[in-house]
Amino acid sequence: MTAVIPFLDIAAGHSELRSELDAAYRRVVDSSWFILGTECAAFEGEFAQFCGAQHCIGVGNGLDALHLILRAMDIGPGDEVIVPSNTFIATWLAVTHAGATVVPVEPVETTHNIDPTLIEAAITPRTRAIMPVHLYGQPADMAPIVEIAARRGLKVIEDAAQAHGATYMGTRTGMLGDAAAFSFYPGKNLGALGDGGAVVTNDSALADRVRELSNYGSRQKYVHESIGYNTRLDELQAAFLRAKLRHLDSWNARRAAIAERYISRLAGADVVLPVVIDAAQPVWHLFVVRTSKREQVIRALAAAGIGVQIHYPIPAGRSSAYAGTSVAQADYPLADTLSREVMSLPIGPHLTIEQADLVCDALHFALGSG
Ligand SMILES: *Cc1c(COP(=O)(O)O)cnc(C)c1O
Repeated sequence: MTAVIPFLDIAAGHSELRSELDAAYRRVVDSSWFILGTECAAFEGEFAQFCGAQHCIGVGNGLDALHLILRAMDIGPGDEVIVPSNTFIATWLAVTHAGATVVPVEPVETTHNIDPTLIEAAITPRTRAIMPVHLYGQPADMAPIVEIAARRGLKVIEDAAQAHGATYMGTRTGMLGDAAAFSFYPGKNLGALGDGGAVVTNDSALADRVRELSNYGSRQKYVHESIGYNTRLDELQAAFLRAKLRHLDSWNARRAAIAERYISRLAGADVVLPVVIDAAQPVWHLFVVRTSKREQVIRALAAAGIGVQIHYPIPAGRSSAYAGTSVAQADYPLADTLSREVMSLPIGPHLTIEQADLVCDALHFALGSG
């Protein structure tokens, strides 16, 4: 087999939107205004509307979005934040940068999202917030999480970096907690042509504080109220994102069609397929399967020209970054096991059904089931 199927074909997306992206670029260059201008303000309004939110603040990237939310909530040294044991390391880094302590909680085995039934046992008098991640584009099981948070006086901060447009009980991510962080890293479902991120919330005071922190702790030029940062969504990225946001729902629908195809074509294969909870409508940022024969399968798919990735090969708490801290020794066997067994198949709005079928054929062949 000689099919060459990339893990994600970003170029195909950009050639589809070529003229819109060119027009966005020209608008910004012609305006000669590159930071905190009309494109950023317009995108913030459009993305807030997309999420159903009152406020959106464009920032430099998803990590900064998470970090600014924590800072704006005055969560810092001495405080604890509950995070999934199984997530991209940025979730953890935001907490660590804020000076607070990460408290990992294991996932549900079927969805890989944080297990709400394990959260209460992880709460201490120092706990300030729960930070669920909508991993792979599927909303975490938010109803019990929000219920625990309300009862225990905690904030809920959504890490929605992989879940633009996903819904839980009909509500879009971004509106499922007190505040949410999005990333517009190029490979995300809504990706810029560089770095970008946003904070979304209905809390006006929080939004105001995030905006101030993102712009040198300033609300008014040269008046600095706090030790802020420089992390803003620039005009060029905002203009590109406005063009791409118009296609997000249809591109997410194409991802869902691929996921549906994989689920039906791989039903008999010796891999564990993704499980979607009734309340959730995922946007399939990733299509993650689980197999104890991962190395063998990846070798076979690579030989067939199919791009496969692993999300994530090392749990955040096992990375060198956290060596010597208490979380490095903590027990999270499921995150450890998943890191050894998960692999992500190609998925994206520009993968064709025919390509998905080739991936399935190659996977069946690798597993000896086809
Ligand atoms: C991508 C990602 C982030 C960080 O976003 P950046 O824009 O790369 O900083 C945070 N959390 C999760 C779950 C992500 O996938």
